[in-house]
Amino acid sequence: MNSGPILIALLFVLTSGLPAQAQVAVKAEVAKAGSYFDFESLPKPAINDLGAKATWKIADGRADRSSAAIAVLSDGLMPAGNDQPNQNFFFAAGTEGGLIAVDLGAVQDVSQVVTYSWHSDSRAPQVYSLYAAVGDEPDFAIPDSASALSGSKAWKKLADVDTRPAKAAQGNGAGNTARGGQHAARVADAKATLGKFRHLLFAVSATEREDAFGNTFFSEIDIVTGDPAALDRIAAPELRTIDFATVDKAYSFTIDFTQAPELREWTEKELTPIIQQWYPKIVEMFPSEGFQAIKHVRFRYLRDTEMRGIPAYASGDTISMNADWFRGQLDREARGAVVHEMVHIVQAYSGRGRRSQGYRAPPGWIVEGIPDYVRWFLYEPQTKGAMLSKKALANAKHDASYRTSANFIDWVIRNHSSDGTLVQQLNAAARQGKYSSDLWQKLTGKSEEELAEAWRSQ
Ligand SMILES: [Zn+2]
Repeated sequence: MNSGPILIALLFVLTSGLPAQAQVAVKAEVAKAGSYFDFESLPKPAINDLGAKATWKIADGRADRSSAAIAVLSDGLMPAGNDQPNQNFFFAAGTEGGLIAVDLGAVQDVSQVVTYSWHSDSRAPQVYSLYAAVGDEPDFAIPDSASALSGSKAWKKLADVDTRPAKAAQGNGAGNTARGGQHAARVADAKATLGKFRHLLFAVSATEREDAFGNTFFSEIDIVTGDPAALDRIAAPELRTIDFATVDKAYSFTIDFTQAPELREWTEKELTPIIQQWYPKIVEMFPSEGFQAIKHVRFRYLRDTEMRGIPAYASGDTISMNADWFRGQLDREARGAVVHEMVHIVQAYSGRGRRSQGYRAPPGWIVEGIPDYVRWFLYEPQTKGAMLSKKALANAKHDASYRTSANFIDWVIRNHSSDGTLVQQLNAAARQGKYSSDLWQKLTGKSEEELAEAWRSQ
C-alpha cells in the first residue's frame, strides 16, 4: 500500500496548523507561607539535575559584591532565610541585570528549566528571557551584551519569564509583602521537550527601578533532562530553635536562631536564664484589670539587612533580635535590650484595647520610658546606664524618652510614691488607653510640670 504521500500531506497540514515552535509555557508560583520551597504544583529544587554538572558563567553584567559565586545556582543548596546575600547569586546593585551562560558540555534533550529565588521583598520576583542554542550554528557565540544577543541568529528564545505580582497589586500598598517570598518559575512544554541544546542563556532584568536593589536573589536553577520525577529533591533544613519554660511552666519560650547559629551557645547559657527569670517578674510587675500576659513568647534572630539597623523590636508575641548587632554587644547591651523588649511584650499597648472606644494612645516617652526604667533601674542598676550628671539634669527633658524618662520615673518613684505602685499604675492606665498628664497629679499630688521641675533641680 502506498500511503506515503498521504501521510506526508497530513503531517504538513498538522505542523503548519501549529506555531513553528513548541508550546512552551511558563508556570510561576510563590511557595506556601511558612514552608521551605513547598509549591502548589511546582517541585522543590532538585539536587542532581543537569545544572549540577554544567559550566556557569556571567557573560554580561557583574555580580554584586555581596553576592555568592555563580556556582551557588547549581549547588543543590537553598538559602537559610529570606535575606541571605551570600547564599544567592544576584547582579550588582544599581545595574540592569545581565547574561548568565550555561554550557551543558554536550547536546542534551532538555525537558524543563526551573528557576528558584528567595527574598523578603522586591528581590524575590524573577524577570528574564531564556534562550538556547546547539552550538553548531554558523554565527554561534556566547554574547557579551544584550545587543550581541539580539543580533545573533544562533540563539532561539524559549520563553519570557516574569513572576512579579500584577501591576494592580503593586500599587495598593500591599506591594511589598506581595512580591516577597520563595518564587519558582518553570519553563516547559506540556507535550514535548524544550529541544536538544548544549547552551542556555538567561537574559536577566532587574525587577524594579525605584531603588538600586531590584536585582533578583537567584537561589538555584534546575536544568532537567528526562523525567523530572526521577530527580532527588532538597529536604527542608532543620529548624534551629530552643524551647524552654519557666520552672512552674506558666510561661514558655521559643528562640529561633536559624539565622544566627553562631549565637547558640551564648543564647543557651546567657540569655535563656534571663528570660526565664525576668519575663514572669515583669508580668507580675504590671498587672491591670482583666489583663492576661502572653504565655508563649517567641524570639528570633534576624540579619541586620532585615532589621534595617534596629537592634531589637517587639511585635505581638515576638521579639526580633538583630544578630549582627547582638554579636558585637554580647558583653555590653545585648541582655538589657532583651529585658527592654520583654517589657514591651507585657505592656501590650498595641493590643486589643486599641480598638475600643475612647482609647487614648500613651505618649512615646511613657511607652519607652517604662521599659528603660525596668532595664536600667531594676535589671542592671550596677551599670548606671541611665544616670545623669547634675549638669545634664539641669538641661534634661523628662519626656525625652528612653533613659532620660527612665531616670525621671525612677526619681518620682523614690521621692513621691509612698506605696510603690506608681509605675504599675502608669502602665495600667497606658495599657487601658486612659493615660493622661493628670495622672501624675492623682498619683503624687504634684503636676507633671512640678515634678519635672523638681527633678531637674534635685
Ligand atoms: Zn522600646
